[in-house]
Amino acid sequence: MANHSKEVAQFIEKVSAKNPNETEFIQAVVEVAETIIPFISKHPKYQESNILEMMCEPERVFMFRVPWVDDKGNVHVNRGYRIQMNSAIGPYKGGLRFHPTVNLSILKFLAFEQVFKNSLTSLPMGGGKGGADFDPKGKSDNEVMRFCQSFMSELGKYIGQFTDVPAGDIGVGGREIGYMFGQYKRLNDEFTGVLTGKGLQYGGSLIRPEATGYGCVYFSEEVLKYRGDSLEGKVCTVSGSGNVAQFAIEKLIQNKAKVVSVSDSGGSIFDKDGIDEEKLAYIKELKNVKRGRVSEYADKYSSAVFRPKETPWTIPCDLAYPCATQNELPLEDAQTLIKNGCKGVFEGANMPTTADAVELIKSNKLMFSPGKASNAGGVATSGLEMSQNSLRLSWTTEEVDERLKGIMKAIHQNCVDHGAEGKDYVDYVKGANIAGFVKVADAMLAQGCV
Ligand code: NAP
Repeated sequence: MANHSKEVAQFIEKVSAKNPNETEFIQAVVEVAETIIPFISKHPKYQESNILEMMCEPERVFMFRVPWVDDKGNVHVNRGYRIQMNSAIGPYKGGLRFHPTVNLSILKFLAFEQVFKNSLTSLPMGGGKGGADFDPKGKSDNEVMRFCQSFMSELGKYIGQFTDVPAGDIGVGGREIGYMFGQYKRLNDEFTGVLTGKGLQYGGSLIRPEATGYGCVYFSEEVLKYRGDSLEGKVCTVSGSGNVAQFAIEKLIQNKAKVVSVSDSGGSIFDKDGIDEEKLAYIKELKNVKRGRVSEYADKYSSAVFRPKETPWTIPCDLAYPCATQNELPLEDAQTLIKNGCKGVFEGANMPTTADAVELIKSNKLMFSPGKASNAGGVATSGLEMSQNSLRLSWTTEEVDERLKGIMKAIHQNCVDHGAEGKDYVDYVKGANIAGFVKVADAMLAQGCV
């Protein structure tokens, strides 16, 4: 790989010049370029058609004003976005994020990763991402509804069941998807599967809420199985307390692992006795219904302490599951994890581990799965929701869960096929990037210079 470092540097220089100040987007491109440039040097057809550079340029970007009125009658203005990154293998597909940090760089990194992730699922979905710098925290249901309606009044012009099918992400759960679906239906006078993550009463799929967290744990089971190991008895740290974290914890408990942490942007909880099903039910109620803070967990359970502003990565563990947000596991935390004997890091969130931390984790030969592989279960099940909507049928919990397991297993195998280094080590970053790239690149080549 070292002999390609000059080409990688030149490529990144060109992409950086075109996308100034887009730190997260460039971070995601670097990670891909480092593994794909050596690969395409051996496959000239991709080089000749400049496919990687094409993939770094979104097909289309929308940016728009989202005005809304709060409960006191004050007018607010947010900025909405939709990045339609790549439609070579299917309609654009990817979540919507509502968070005050949302900007073009973050959404372009997410859309770029989504292209590879969706390709890995083996389902016909292109890549996209969108959202707004709106903070749902502390807003009433009516305020959230008015915001979602205003957002969809504009976004609705650019999406459609055969064009672009958004889903949820940070700050966008069942409540927000419901409000946006209602507004889309009202404006277009049609009932179609234009969003996924819908409620079960109006076209949603069983297992979709669970899918990202469950899928991440299924993926980690495959990684462990490949090494002749299992989750049973493993001490696990999980960050976040939203959709992905809740269902990763649920599946870890079902697999007899001991989960000792949960977190939010205020800090982390360390529960020395482990989180059981009853405590998890409390977390779900606290975060999904009461919309409270994880610090309240320590008031309720005496086995737990709240560590303000601290990540969970200083807690000794066998396996770590970052499930909150990008760059939440920096180098110093990776050093601590390794010092404390951690054996594997499985990303539930998108790009939660910083580039230097990934390098350290990989050079110490820990198990490491990038989000684009291990969190692909969410979008895969969104793909299954789209299939059910088209068929006008609903599959059972068991059917959807079996398909999800099968997809995670196939992604794991694909990563092994492209990322195995000798008998004992798999570079899952390389495996996921190459496997995801090949399908999209071949489709782009077949469709000509468009
Ligand atoms: P969510 O339900 O909104 O939960 C996000 C969690 O992360 C919350 O606990 C939040 O805490 C925490 N968080 C956000 N920003 C943080 C920060 N700067 N520092 C520490 N904690 C922070 O979102 P989600 O759907 O679980 O998504 C989590 C991650 O998974 C994201 O990276 C997302 O892109 C990725 N992902 C999600 C899906 C999906 O199906 N939902 C699929 C694939 C990947 P607060 O409550 O304090 O904000």
